[in-house]
Amino acid sequence: MKRIVILGGGESGAGSAILAKIKGFDVFLSDKGEIKPEYAAILDKYGIEYEQGQHTEDLILNADEIIKSPGIPEKAMIVAKAIMKGIPVISEIEFAGRYDNSKKICITGSNGKTTTTSLIFYMLSNAGLNVGLGGNIGKSYALQVATEHHDIYVLELSSFQLDGMYSFKADVAILLNITPDHLDRYEYKLENYVKSKFRIIQNMTDEDSFIFCADDRISNEHLEKIMLKCNPLPFSQNRKIAQGGYTECEKMFIKVKENDYEMFLKELSLQGRHNVYNSLAAAITGKVCNIDNEIIRKSLMSFKGVEHRLERVMEVNGVTYINDSKATNVDSSWYALESMKTPVIWIAGGTDKGNDYQPLFDLVEKKVRILICMGVDNKKLHDSFSGKVDAIYDATSAEDAVKMAASLAESGETVLLSPACASFDLFRNYEDRGRKFKDAVRNL
Ligand code: ADP
Repeated sequence: MKRIVILGGGESGAGSAILAKIKGFDVFLSDKGEIKPEYAAILDKYGIEYEQGQHTEDLILNADEIIKSPGIPEKAMIVAKAIMKGIPVISEIEFAGRYDNSKKICITGSNGKTTTTSLIFYMLSNAGLNVGLGGNIGKSYALQVATEHHDIYVLELSSFQLDGMYSFKADVAILLNITPDHLDRYEYKLENYVKSKFRIIQNMTDEDSFIFCADDRISNEHLEKIMLKCNPLPFSQNRKIAQGGYTECEKMFIKVKENDYEMFLKELSLQGRHNVYNSLAAAITGKVCNIDNEIIRKSLMSFKGVEHRLERVMEVNGVTYINDSKATNVDSSWYALESMKTPVIWIAGGTDKGNDYQPLFDLVEKKVRILICMGVDNKKLHDSFSGKVDAIYDATSAEDAVKMAASLAESGETVLLSPACASFDLFRNYEDRGRKFKDAVRNL
């Protein structure tokens, strides 16, 4: 019997283990850390052998194939040893894709994946389709393939998932943008990261659609170097596009084959230039899937957005509070600041991933009145922004930062948490940071 070993016992690993078990493999799961009780319980339920707190080489390196959770780097000792031994190492999506004949819409990009994936899922659900949501979001794709049936899947794919994908084929692939991120996992070479993102179109044919941003410099540079085998449907906010989507005179225009769609940008429920890109990508997908224009319109008008992404918390004393805790890099904070329409008290900072703040200078000078640095080491923020705002303060907790912001903000202004940094110095993760921010606002 073929032996499949799964590394990592989180959502993705547990789902893969169950699918492998159901398909009749000899299955073993190993996690170097602790496995959460809910995942341990489900592994027990399916009679799957597992270990935690260690990787026992004898039980792992005898695998015929290894499914690696996206969070484990290839450099990890056990993975490196498996690769040296010639054991194929794949990702959950590659594995589950082998057992799934449904139509697959896959979304990647440095920023906007979760928003666009959720928006497309919302639109297809509104159209009455039997659609599943997976990848780096919600319930694992593998678990759904094992235990449910969907005609269509909308999958959010990170570059780490894509790295372990070889035979998988998307029917519709969306590449939102590419900005330098996670370079620590790519030998600090942008080219490696770009190639990883472009794996989303591998194996596609001229019957499949590739939706991408024509305004994105890095995507375009790579496209010039390759032969595209699938049908390109670009979107742009700078120029007209014959097949795909673009904006002009405050309206968006979509055309896929002979199918047209248009709407006013002010009707979009998600505001901000970045969300126009996300909405363009979703509307093109709608047309590719032959969704009625009325359903596309209603969906783009009523989508509520995703928690921690430019999420409006509430207004207190005429001041609006916005939680954009998911902005963990400079580019996403650029779009947040760009979409601000009032003077801003900006809360930023955290674990710096080698940030260059220069792209923010103009926007900060124009829009930010006060910067509150919320991190353990705020020196780089001080060095970058002193002289560009009226004042800079330091805070060591979300509560501190919010109280300080409330005492400084004037009616009509906006307090924006958009950190441009990871959260691990003061918080468990970006969700923890966002929730503590919201709690502090609600307690004002
Ligand atoms: P991801 O899943 O790729 O991390 P999210 O949808 O969670 O993307 O959004 C992450 C952050 O990036 C949020 O702060 C959001 O406001 C911002 N953002 C969303 N869409 C885009 C986009 N198309 N370009 C740049 N930034 C974006």
